Amino acid sequence: MTATTGAAFAFPGSFWDMNDEPVIEVSRLKFSYDTFTAVDGVDLSVRRGEIFALLGTNGAGKTTTLELIEGFRHPESGTIRVFGHEPARARSVLKPRMGMMLQHAGLIEELSVVETLRLWGSLTTRTDDAVELLDRIELAHRADTRVEQLSGGEKRRLDFALAIYGRPELIVLDEPTTGLDPESRQRLWQTVEQLRGSGSTILLTTHYLEEAESLADRVAIMHQGRISVEGTLPEVLATRPSRITAHVPASALDRALPAFTGTLESALDGAVAFLALETSALQEDLGALLCWARDGGIDLDHLTANQASLAEVFLAVGANR
Ligand code: ATP
Repeated sequence: MTATTGAAFAFPGSFWDMNDEPVIEVSRLKFSYDTFTAVDGVDLSVRRGEIFALLGTNGAGKTTTLELIEGFRHPESGTIRVFGHEPARARSVLKPRMGMMLQHAGLIEELSVVETLRLWGSLTTRTDDAVELLDRIELAHRADTRVEQLSGGEKRRLDFALAIYGRPELIVLDEPTTGLDPESRQRLWQTVEQLRGSGSTILLTTHYLEEAESLADRVAIMHQGRISVEGTLPEVLATRPSRITAHVPASALDRALPAFTGTLESALDGAVAFLALETSALQEDLGALLCWARDGGIDLDHLTANQASLAEVFLAVGANR
């Protein structure tokens, strides 16, 4: 599998960073709340400079997996390495290098926005230009406002600002765009893209599949504690068949159809025949259909040829319960 990396420069770091090791390496990870197994043998590898989207149904175990990677929980079994460290035992080592946005923020209501950022900077030992950062996330006009007076979306953006404060090498975001209006969502994603462009690695969860589809270098879909599908977007989409549809004159079916590799269904409605083909060889079967139509002088009306969408893959994962 190949990953698209947008790394513009390498971060200065230890010898460990000079090699090609993944930033996050998770192997056979298992975690249970009492008797309920929320994470059930997860393998995951996040490479330097990529945006990796962890998708999944409600309750699939995404947040628990992120909390384990962030070092807030100890695995029941399996291993996690972040920059080569065990996160639950190396939180102080990882803090300067790893920004996190949890699903529920723990902001201090009495502090102002800019005080919150500065406090966070001192706690994480990361440095940044707080004013410029607030400008970037469109909170500059609220710099001196107390956290308790912020709207839900503004709190979420402040939370995002804390995660990216100091442009850490690794940024873990749990549903960062939930609760944001469409414009703020788009701006957040632009910032995430810029961070990737300047070398940060980003692991995030989202329920917005179109966002993952347009921005993630690799995605994984989690279901009932396990990763069901994982890879680059083309690899993940290729796990479901593509679809070709067309309308032809019913009389065209007098001419034998080609031997498609996929499964063809046809239905007649008066003088029109509807063709629908599900195939794992889109180019080959589309070529065969086009040749058949050309050689027979047949008009293909309403011709469509589409790869499966991420939503279809997602639904198929959920259907295999
Ligand atoms: P969502 O998309 O709804 O946020 P998720 O994929 O992030 O879900 P988790 O929050 O990791 O899922 O939860 C996984 C499972 O573990 C769920 O069934 C949830 O009810 C359960 N769970 C989560 N936290 C706890 C807890 N503190 N105690 C007991 N069970 C929990």
